[in-house]
Amino acid sequence: MFNGKLQSHDWLTVNKYAIKGMYQNLSEVQTKAHCAKQVWNRHSVPRHRFTMWLASQDRLKTRARLVKVGIGNDSQCAVCCFSEETITHLYFGCAYSASCKAVVFQWLGLSDHRGDLHRTLIWLRRQGTSKFRRQVIYAACAGLIYHLWRARNHAVWDAVVPTVLQTVKRVKMDTKGRIQQLIGKKVKASDVEWFSAL
Ligand SMILES: [Zn+2]
Repeated sequence: MFNGKLQSHDWLTVNKYAIKGMYQNLSEVQTKAHCAKQVWNRHSVPRHRFTMWLASQDRLKTRARLVKVGIGNDSQCAVCCFSEETITHLYFGCAYSASCKAVVFQWLGLSDHRGDLHRTLIWLRRQGTSKFRRQVIYAACAGLIYHLWRARNHAVWDAVVPTVLQTVKRVKMDTKGRIQQLIGKKVKASDVEWFSAL
């Protein structure tokens, strides 16, 4: 019945509970639309982009999700062992991911931002003083999401958690490598200078 557009006849047939659901669906659709540019940024490493998309759609197989569908019985975050591993905890409720995010944002010259993944993605749209800088920021954020998921996998499968600095270093290296490959001649000298100083 509802796929992002409110049809006028829907209002005649639904009760108030369904209307509440419609508003929730509408806000989810809007959030996803607001995140499209950040997620589908051409300057992001493709595998980072894919993980970012899965995370933004809440499709990563977190431990809390697996336990819910009867796979395994441990829903605890393997990185901090302090909370249930949900998408909200992974990005960025966990102290480990919050620390990595803070260091990456500092590297990019962004102010400290506390918020879950969607709030962060929406906030990022207002950052950066040019299109190129925003593309670099989105690429770094995709790298952060990918490498946090990788660190989580290490914790789950190998019982080893990379240090915050190791994870951040991988984000920086991947971002710099990818942008260096794609940087065009049209990018302003001041932007090139900013990127080179990263
Ligand atoms: Zn945690």
